[in-house]
Amino acid sequence: MSAPTPAAPQRFVLTLNAGSSSLKMGLYGSQSDTPLVVGLADRIGPEGVLKLKSGTGDPLPAPEGDLSTHEQVLTTVIASLRSAYPGLDPAAIGHRVVHGGIQYTQPTLLDDAVIAELERLTPFAPLHQPHNLAGIRAARHAFPGVPQVACFDTAFHRHHPWVNDTFALPRALYDEGVRRYGFHGLSYDYISGALAQQAPHLAAANVVVAHLGNGASMCAIRNGKSVASSMGFSALDGLPMGTRCGQVDPGVLLYLMDQKAMSAAEITELLYKKSGLLGLSGLSNDMRTLEAADTPEAAQAIDYFVFRCRREVGAMAAALGGIDALVFTGGIGENSRLIRERICERLDWMGIELDRQRNARNALVISTELARTTVMVMPTDEELVIARAARMNMRAGRDPQHARCAPYA
Ligand code: AMP
Repeated sequence: MSAPTPAAPQRFVLTLNAGSSSLKMGLYGSQSDTPLVVGLADRIGPEGVLKLKSGTGDPLPAPEGDLSTHEQVLTTVIASLRSAYPGLDPAAIGHRVVHGGIQYTQPTLLDDAVIAELERLTPFAPLHQPHNLAGIRAARHAFPGVPQVACFDTAFHRHHPWVNDTFALPRALYDEGVRRYGFHGLSYDYISGALAQQAPHLAAANVVVAHLGNGASMCAIRNGKSVASSMGFSALDGLPMGTRCGQVDPGVLLYLMDQKAMSAAEITELLYKKSGLLGLSGLSNDMRTLEAADTPEAAQAIDYFVFRCRREVGAMAAALGGIDALVFTGGIGENSRLIRERICERLDWMGIELDRQRNARNALVISTELARTTVMVMPTDEELVIARAARMNMRAGRDPQHARCAPYA
């Protein structure tokens, strides 16, 4: 593969986001926030597929090589990158980690003790944490001695007031970690920083951010800090998602166990993989497909999604005691003018009024000039948040004694 322009800088950071059978990668230089290369390995195993793109989105030739494990994928990608960037040796590696429990409130340099702590959190995120840890192990093996930093989806929410952190369950459960953690923290962190740059007058304001993608949640942010999140103990709560249910009455789960004798594994499959837009429409988890479909079930799935989003904007505004701005992000939030319009159409009572033309253009500000509440569309960039945290460690050097981690900035 040939090196993208401009000329490659000498030091690099690598970002990794490991799923069960996928690995997203980003290669960044020491100065620019635009990645040099992004990669996605899917269906890791005998049928693995690897795609690479330049930071500007141009496809790059996919390297030949073994894609049978996360480690092999890393080795294959790095061998290919080294031919484009001779001497490539990441100066730091950043990992997305879904769960940081109570203790991790900022990016954290990984060592054996931290990894053991993260392993202990696996019961809180059994579907994601083991894969994140597999990515960490693979990277440590491939790059021994390179500083590795964990960036947590939960960290941004760790300073919630107690009432937004708890369930009304016996206190012993709270004490052992059954809490409302909230997720999508890297995305909210990015939006909060971008808002401070692009709309400084809103940096200290009451802002509701709607991250609407295949996973969906909302976050109430005041003064750049998370105050409440629609997601709770797991990434199932709150808004309906592509295949996840969003909020359900826990009585439904008791019914499924008692009356239908469903096992925990079957209920997990139902709630994570068969519900949400897919379950309601019987057609697809993909909003584009539903918008284009003409079945009543697809229309109802969209109606439910819109209704729950609108309801959640109200809940988040109430948690903040008011709303100055509503920001849409995520694949649906950034691209679907229809969903944004429908969510906003009955929120005029909270000062929300869309400018249809701006909304159709996915403009940065899509509210009218005179609207009391600013409505914005901002593309999120979770990888960049990880790259910046990794970069802080690159600057600090390779000696973990002297390395330090920055708070999300
Ligand atoms: P994400 O998980 O953030 O990548 O978002 C994926 C979701 O965004 C899927 O439901 C897509 O159908 C949806 N999406 C992406 N582009 C559009 C679009 N132009 N209109 C409606 N939905 C979209």
